[in-house]
Amino acid sequence: MAYSVVEGIRLAAAQILEMEIEDIQILCIPHLDRDTVDAVLYDPMPGGSGLLEQMVERWSEVLAAAQAILTCVSACQTACLDCMLHFRNAHFHRHLDRQKALAFYAERGALETAQPIPPAQPISQKADAAQPAHPPEFRLRDMLVRAGLGDPEAQKAIPIGQPWGRTLPDFFYPAPDERHEGVCIYLDGLSAHIHGSADSQERDTQIRERLAEMGYEVIAIPKTALDDRDRMAGYFGRIARKLLTKEESDRIKNNPDWFGGVS
Ligand SMILES: [Zn+2]
Repeated sequence: MAYSVVEGIRLAAAQILEMEIEDIQILCIPHLDRDTVDAVLYDPMPGGSGLLEQMVERWSEVLAAAQAILTCVSACQTACLDCMLHFRNAHFHRHLDRQKALAFYAERGALETAQPIPPAQPISQKADAAQPAHPPEFRLRDMLVRAGLGDPEAQKAIPIGQPWGRTLPDFFYPAPDERHEGVCIYLDGLSAHIHGSADSQERDTQIRERLAEMGYEVIAIPKTALDDRDRMAGYFGRIARKLLTKEESDRIKNNPDWFGGVS
């Protein structure tokens, strides 16, 4: 549902403001300890494009437009090309449900300020204090999209049997054909892995072996590689090889103009 709610808002913003749908990106973050999902709209432009601020300023207009779009002219069941389906959200089509989003707007459509977001690049601080403005997941996701790999699914739960139950790769791409079951991308060196104990490393290794046995392709990217263009080109070449043609993957590997992203 969370994705439907924010997607409706994004489509409305694209209609009202001077923006393309991909100028604002969506990231859904589930929680391990509860069933709710946080959906985040973020601005991938370095320094910010001001679009989010405009959306907040014109919230009532944005909300009204979202409600108008989702009150589908074809009166579809969940979502259709007349309301929510767009090639930019292709990976999420099966999750989109305009009715749920409309119910959410009716109930909780008012904008609340939960927490102020600190400026990405504090002016008063040392300019060279290498301070990542965006969480690494956002940077990776942004690069994946810019490389032309499409919107990955974040934190997709994959059942892997006992003793683990399931695993949540940071990003997932469904398989384009019968070659494999899909590509699981793990960004290593984040919260859960931060302690880096031998136990958790062993656990990760076993889970990834299980995924490989099940037919998934597993790509683990160390967080430290995010700043290294050559290493990222290598990882992206590998991901692309699993999803696209050899020609396209060579292009992604050899012309890493997608490198960088939000920073
Ligand atoms: Zn529709």
